[in-house]
Parts: sequence; structure tokens; C-alpha cells
Amino acid sequence: METSKGLNPKAGETENTLLYRQLRTLFQGISKEIPIFMFLDKNKDDVFCKANRQIIRAFRELTDKIKFKEFYLDHNLAKKWQVDSSPTLLIDPDHYSVRWLGAPMGEEGRTFLETIILIGTEQSHLSDQSAGVIKKIDTPRRIKVFVSATCPYCPQQAVNAVKAAVEKPGLVSLEIVDIQSRPEMADAYGAQSVPMTFANDIMIGHGAQSEEVFASSLLKLEPQTLFIPESDAELVETDLVIVGGGPAGLTAGIYAVRSGLKSVIIERDALGGQVATTPVVENYTGFTQVGGKTLVDIMVNHALQYVQIFQGENVVDIQPGNPIRIQTSRRKFTARAVLLATGATHKRIGVDGESRLSGRGVSYCSTCDGPLFKGKKVVMAGGGNSAVTEALHLHHMGIDVTLIHRRDSLRAQEFLVKQLKESLIPVLWNTEIREIRGETRVQELLLYNHHTKKTSTLKVDGIFVAIGYQPTTELAKKIGVNITADGYIERDEKHRTNIPGFYSAGDVEGGYKQIVTAVGQGAEAAMAIFEDLINPYWQREKRFTGFSDRST
Ligand code: NAP
Repeated sequence: METSKGLNPKAGETENTLLYRQLRTLFQGISKEIPIFMFLDKNKDDVFCKANRQIIRAFRELTDKIKFKEFYLDHNLAKKWQVDSSPTLLIDPDHYSVRWLGAPMGEEGRTFLETIILIGTEQSHLSDQSAGVIKKIDTPRRIKVFVSATCPYCPQQAVNAVKAAVEKPGLVSLEIVDIQSRPEMADAYGAQSVPMTFANDIMIGHGAQSEEVFASSLLKLEPQTLFIPESDAELVETDLVIVGGGPAGLTAGIYAVRSGLKSVIIERDALGGQVATTPVVENYTGFTQVGGKTLVDIMVNHALQYVQIFQGENVVDIQPGNPIRIQTSRRKFTARAVLLATGATHKRIGVDGESRLSGRGVSYCSTCDGPLFKGKKVVMAGGGNSAVTEALHLHHMGIDVTLIHRRDSLRAQEFLVKQLKESLIPVLWNTEIREIRGETRVQELLLYNHHTKKTSTLKVDGIFVAIGYQPTTELAKKIGVNITADGYIERDEKHRTNIPGFYSAGDVEGGYKQIVTAVGQGAEAAMAIFEDLINPYWQREKRFTGFSDRST
């Protein structure tokens, strides 16, 4: 998705009225009526049915094109459209096969918004590259995307699927399945981590994919990981390309554009990085307590006032030079500087069963997958701030959680440790997880206690892993950027790497790895880039003679 700069606020306008005005402008492009039908069980007018009514009422305030009707499951129309579970939303079923099992609550509101716009404008808005792939589909594809209301990665994947269903209404059908409303269906498919995507009952994607990778996975009916665009892809010329849309990248975008640099941000996954899945943040100045995703939304809205964001695009290649050439899964960019703010990805324990059962009870995102484990027994592995924050989050959701830590004291901040003790969450100290067992889903852990030197087993329904992060440096390595012995990008005090024109910021540099430090590093890097592009050090310093003929 290409997220353009938003409408600018008018004097005295609040965030809410600005948003309302932006949405109304978006809906003005809808010319046709959009019938939405909700089918429900007459004996089960539950929280999901009520949420659907509320959401649709809110959307109808933005456009008069939505026509909403409700039917019971024994109605003839339910038979006609083969609806058998409650509630099911059908969106313009005479023209498209797009349905919701459950309700588009929380993060899924974004998917619903995009669905209304795509169906209302009768355009898929697929990139030329993805449309080319989807065109090749010549047999039916029945897609199911399992999502949860708290998963920030889910809308990207669900919208990919909606676009395919709008592009090929005759062949592509879609069910967006809310795992909280249909736990039995998630169970039957073994979808214990979201988003998880099936086509014709074959798993084609675990996690959010770029639109082009999704399109190829749908065509080939197996998960793909890479998409190289055709050579005639669109070219964007800019001063600065920021790779990564976490706090560091977003802040750098604001600072760079305000300095006068034409800048873009490219992000392959959800914006906000790790913060987007942090249940609560209590140490970002100005907020005593704020949901990670809420903080991300505030940062993204701020950044969008300045900088264009290309989300869901994967950078597949960068060629240093003058200009620097950047290739994503969708288009090409040329730039005078690149900021690598690629963040970090969660570490794996590295034991038997972990990879095999990933998404089948092994999870790295309590915010996304927690809802699936309500009333069940899970463990949280780790002893740092993430593990304690997330264990508390699961506990507050009504999940029976035990913390397992390999040492006898926690690395987490005292404030969090106190909350952990007060919530009476059990902790297994000095305990190593040696194996994750289960046929098709997690059933048991093999544990080893360093003090007693004994092994034991523990029956569980799931394991959440929060044992730290590894810097995401594949791209940096490919370009030839120096990496430290600890695996982080090596840089100087101005965030310059060893390659002129290439900079870094945020968790990929190591250090304290706090949101507030990432934000500071993003600002520092953007200011250094601005100064360097005016007065390039690689032209002044002898050691770069002959390195490149880059100039301003
Ligand atoms: P972390 O601080 O690096 O802690 C990782 C924990 O996992 C440590 O307790 C470590 O044990 C354990 N561990 C590492 N490898 C393991 C393995 N193979 N098997 C079992 N246990 C293992 O990671 P984090 O908690 O994800 O936090 C990452 C960064 O984000 C930190 O800088 C943290 O301060 C920051 N953060 C801040 C907040 C906040 O301020 N609210 C929230 C979340 C994260 P040992 O202790 O024995 O090394």
C-alpha cells in the first residue's frame, strides 16, 4: 500500500475532525451502492453481531452508498449464498465473493475501510506487477485469511486478498475469519498464529506478505518469499530513502523533510516495528501509559503530514553509486542517501519443535495471537522487559501463563518485576526449554532445571517466546556495510556507515533499544544526512578518494 501524505489540518482542527474529513474525502470516490448483508443465528445475537451493526452505522455516516440488511440463517438468501454460520457479513455478494466470519473489530477496521472503497470504486488498486500475476489465475481460488482484532500485521494480508477478489470476482473468493468469533475453525485449520492464509485449503502464507508475494503464492498455491518486478517498473526519484517504518525511520522522515530533503519511507511489514505489537508502553515521555499500536498510529499520522510511506514493499536490492539505486518488490527508487532503519526481528530459542510448530502454538506475538489462548495454559519464555510486559498482558486477558526464565533473576525493569509479583504469575527459575513437543500443535515442553539438574515435562497449549531481538542486517550485509562483532551495523557518531551515502538508526545499531532512543537516533541521522548532502564528507576526506563520484 502506498500511503500518501494526508490532508493538512485546518487551524484549530482536532485529530478526530481531521480524520473524519479525510475519510469523507476518501468516500467521495464511491459511485455505486454497496449492499452489505449480515446473516445471524436468531438465538445468538452476540457481541460480534452488535459490533457489526455499530461499525456499519459508523461507516454509513461517512457515505450513503452502504445499504445494510440483516437476515436469519434460515432465510433463502443464506441458502443462495451458502452461509451457515453466525454472524457472517457479505459485501456486495451479487458482484463479489468477499465475506467476514465475525466482525471487523479493532485493527480489522482498516481492512473493512479498504474493502468498502475497493468494492465501492470497483477497482482492485493492485500494482501492475501483482495484477499481472493475478491475471494468470485460471482456476478457482477459495481464500481464507485468519485474523485477530489486535493484530497489526493482519490488515495488510487481508487487504491483499480483498484486492485479488475484486480483481478476479469470477474465480477468487475470500473469507476473512476472525479467530475470536470462529475459534473452532481456526482450530480445524491449525491456525494458531495470525495472519495465516489458505487458498483451496493449502497454507499459502504465514504472516503478512507483500502484495506481489501474496499474488504469486496465490497463483502457485504455495508460499513464496520473493518477487522481482519486471524491468519497466515505476521509478521514483528522491533525495533520501529510509528503509524501515519503525520509530527511528518515521522520525527520520519527519526531520529530513522538514530540513528540505525529498524523502520516502519503505516498510515491508506493519508500520511501527516492535512497538506495534507491544501491549503497553509506560516509558515514552509524555505518555504515562499508552498502547503500543496507539503510539504507532500517532507517530504514523504525524509522519504522513510530511513524508510518503510505501508500506508492504520489500527492498530486494540496493546498488550504491550516484545516484543510489533501490529496487523494491514493486518499483525502483533513485536517491542521494539511504538510511537503514531496519530494526530487529525476534530471536528463536533454537530447540527441536520450535520451527515445526511455529504458528501451531509457538508464537512470537502475544498481542496478535493471545486471543486464541483465552482460558488455556501457556508459557512465556524470557526474562527481559518484553517477556514480563507480555506475560502481564496475557494474564490480564484471562490466560493461564507461567514465565520460564533460564536464570534466577530477571533482566526486566524493577517496575515491571513488581507488577509481575503482584499479579501472582508463576515463574519457573533456572529453567531451560529443551524441546517443544506436539504432533500438529504444541502439547508439551521438555524442561531442564540448572540447579536440580533434573528434566521434566510440562503440558501446555502454547508457548510465547520473548527472548530478545536480532538486528535485521541482511540488506546492510548485501550492500557491503560493516557489521560489528555483536551483529549490529557499525557506524560513527553521525550514524554514517563505512559506505558514503549510507546511514543507520534505531535497533539495528544496537545500544539501549528503547523507543525514545530510536526516535532520537532517527532525528540525529536525518540531520547528519542533511548536512552531508550539502557538504559531502566523502568529497573532503582523502580516504574516500576514488570510492565514488557521488556529488550533490
Ligand atoms: P532482552 O532485554 O535482551 O532480554 C532477553 C531475555 O531473554 C533475557 O532475560 C535472556 O536471558 C533471555 N534469553 C535470551 N536468549 C535466550 C535463550 N536462547 N533461551 C532462553 N532465554 C533467553 O530482550 P527483550 O526483553 O525482548 O527486550 C529487548 C529490548 O527492548 C531491551 O533493550 C528492552 O529494554 C527493550 N524493551 C523495553 C520495554 C520497555 O521499556 N517497556 C519493553 C520491551 C522491550 P538472560 O537474562 O539470562 O540473558
